[in-house]
Amino acid sequence: MPFFISYFFTKVNILRGLSLSDTCQFYISYVKIKSMDKNLQKQLKKKLEAEKLRLTKDLRSFAKKDPKMKGNWFTRFPFFGTNRSHKDEGAEKIEEYEKLLPIEHNLELRLKDINKALEEIKKGVYGKCKNCNGKINIERLKAFPEARICMKCSRRK
Ligand SMILES: [Zn+2]
Repeated sequence: MPFFISYFFTKVNILRGLSLSDTCQFYISYVKIKSMDKNLQKQLKKKLEAEKLRLTKDLRSFAKKDPKMKGNWFTRFPFFGTNRSHKDEGAEKIEEYEKLLPIEHNLELRLKDINKALEEIKKGVYGKCKNCNGKINIERLKAFPEARICMKCSRRK
């Protein structure tokens, strides 16, 4: 905490009749909360990085990266092998392809959110709602570390 803020707290607390040692306690608990946040953020960062690896692996198994646009992926047209002479092979392929498209889209969007969250951790602005700018609840972040908006805003949508 910068000096002028701790000075302010000391002033206010003394005015409120709190002793200097109470003020010190207050300051210590403030620092503790701060460092807990850091630890939690580290845990969430690990979780995000693991999820990023997993999603990238999943996407690679049936899609390929768009060389022109960062974060964009294409679903590969399924390849069933050459020794099959099934009549419906073409139709099957199209069906398979159409099933994969929304899956690919979802994975791609999650991966984008994860990358944004990791970027925000780097910049030190992680955990803010993109809609109302409020803090996103810690429990929500634990369950869903790539969350872009807070619970209130997500219910409203
Ligand atoms: Zn919000």
